[in-house]
Amino acid sequence: MPKKWRNNTIRDRHRAVIAADEPPCAECGRAIDYTITDQYDPWVFTVDHVVPLALGGSDLLANKQAMHRLCNLKKGDRLPGCTTSKQRPAPRTGRDSTYEPTTALARGIPADQLPPGVTFVTGRDW
Ligand SMILES: [Zn+2]
Repeated sequence: MPKKWRNNTIRDRHRAVIAADEPPCAECGRAIDYTITDQYDPWVFTVDHVVPLALGGSDLLANKQAMHRLCNLKKGDRLPGCTTSKQRPAPRTGRDSTYEPTTALARGIPADQLPPGVTFVTGRDW
């Protein structure tokens, strides 16, 4: 008899089912190295919710896909293919016509002036 299922058991099973096919990253399309065990490695396999839980997505296997940790972090709570609710404004004219979020911190740009969809900025050079 199986032990009583815990919540993370289903999550682990979904993770195993997805990893079994070793699909490429759903965000960048590149292969994922499923042998990486370091959970903080930017290229480690993570399970992404197609529709984020924060936006009402389900925790069912159908709503899950494989993604690099880095790509998952970059994706955040953005809906795939969604261009209506969070459409990016036209590039600013002036000093930042080509906006590079990863360099925003280095330029001293306050968080409330970051473009839509950018929820955090690290000083890291990816
Ligand atoms: Zn990726």
